[in-house]
Amino acid sequence: MSEKPFFEVEHYIDGRFEKGANRFEILYPATNEVIGTAPEGKAEEVDRAVQAARRAFPGWAKLGAQGRRPYLLRFAQKIREHAEELARIETWDVGRPIRENNPAHYIQRVAWNIEFFAEFAVTHGSEAYPMDNGYVNVVYYEPVGVAGLITPWNVPMMLETWKIGPALAFGNTCVLKPAEFTPIGAWKLAQIAHEAGLPAGVFNVVHGFGPDSAGAALAAHPDVPLISFTGETRTGSAIIKAGADHIKRWSMELGGKGFNIVFADADLDRAIHHSLRAGFFNQGEFCLAGPRLLVQRPIYDIFLERFVQAVKENIRPGDPFDPNTTLGALIHPEHFERVTSYLRYAKEAGFQILVGGGRAELPPPFDRGNFVEPTVITGVTPSDRLCQEEIFGPVVTVMPFDDEQEAIDIANGVQYGLSGVVQSRDLGRCMRVSGAIRAGTIWVNDFFVRDLRVPFGGAKSSGIGREGGIYSREFYTEIKNVCLANA
Ligand code: NAD
Repeated sequence: MSEKPFFEVEHYIDGRFEKGANRFEILYPATNEVIGTAPEGKAEEVDRAVQAARRAFPGWAKLGAQGRRPYLLRFAQKIREHAEELARIETWDVGRPIRENNPAHYIQRVAWNIEFFAEFAVTHGSEAYPMDNGYVNVVYYEPVGVAGLITPWNVPMMLETWKIGPALAFGNTCVLKPAEFTPIGAWKLAQIAHEAGLPAGVFNVVHGFGPDSAGAALAAHPDVPLISFTGETRTGSAIIKAGADHIKRWSMELGGKGFNIVFADADLDRAIHHSLRAGFFNQGEFCLAGPRLLVQRPIYDIFLERFVQAVKENIRPGDPFDPNTTLGALIHPEHFERVTSYLRYAKEAGFQILVGGGRAELPPPFDRGNFVEPTVITGVTPSDRLCQEEIFGPVVTVMPFDDEQEAIDIANGVQYGLSGVVQSRDLGRCMRVSGAIRAGTIWVNDFFVRDLRVPFGGAKSSGIGREGGIYSREFYTEIKNVCLANA
């Protein structure tokens, strides 16, 4: 285990770090030891941060995309310089294996979220539509004001920068309310932004909880016209209600219950590899996960045998700082209880648990952590709560299907519509099936490949709106058309 640090997390308001009051403890998910404390901001801190962001807004907006670009590129560059430290912090915060926070991949993506939008705002700031009669329409994408960013704990730095990048690049200022379970990374990002010389008030961080705390205060604040939220579906509703007295724009990236359809003609080795990732990446605490594994009947038995074997061989819970560990700890004892309650239910209901099914037994100090065994369950029907509710843990249900229509119906048969996987060598079939499923993202013969230009978000209860490229621009800007007469 890595030497245990102690983090004294601070708010970042108007370019200054504040210890704050009402400090709460931060637990390391792998041992449940206290590894630091963070302040709980309430309406007063949120209001100060919003007012600072309001004051900074005109100057930041006036810089223009070209003027903001060097600040943001410097911020991204400093993230890269701190890559090793940030990778370790993300493991302390989340309990995810260090190999998945790899500075060469994960942290590069964190930096790229800023860099990409710094450049994109320069190249995509306006459009012109000349008319046949000689008039010219010029379309401007203008900054809106203060953006409130409310983020979850599962992939914190990636999701925080995914909002900070476009918010700032398009000329808004922002107040980030990171998840209470993972405050360390956001504090570190604020230190890096400070070091990079972002002007005071452009980027603020207020820590705290949701209801009756910093999250609800930010959502309800009258001077915050944009709220970008990622988290649970029911929290999304609560946030919209909290802000409903004012006219705001909402970006809602909500829950998921992804599918992973493997047809009989799929490349079996690749299908197993992608299914392991879809099931167990980030301990299954992943909105894009594919925990509903559907396998076509002719290969069901052989696939299942090989998949279970692959889980036993490859998904290894353990010390998250050990580079051989492939399964980390769940975020918090409460979440551990929630996930294991589904496993108890599966046993009581008489489903077959082919591997896993309970706490992962590990030596001290990890015996006190929130480790759940990678679990594969069969015998479940698509309408069962195991296949309907977001478990958000390393739990995969596998079920057979006969034909395309049955797979489509099962995939569509949940309230969510975020993402899924279709695996087959028949491209026509992949296109037909992808076309018939209501989801924001479908990967064909792969899993979790991201391009920041493409729309990201969910259908049905998985969200409102999309992020990425021009879709983020639409959310984070006020669009104005100026029509020029030719006289
Ligand atoms: P959560 O909804 O519990 O919390 C998310 C954030 O909202 C936290 O910062 C929390 O403090 C804040 N919050 C909670 N209640 C609030 C309230 N009433 N008012 C204002 N703020 C409030 O989500 P979580 O448990 O942190 O994250 C897991 C969830 O996030 C899962 O449902 C997962 O699917 C979803 N998620 C979705 C995406 C996506 O892109 N669609 C990505 C990652 C996670």
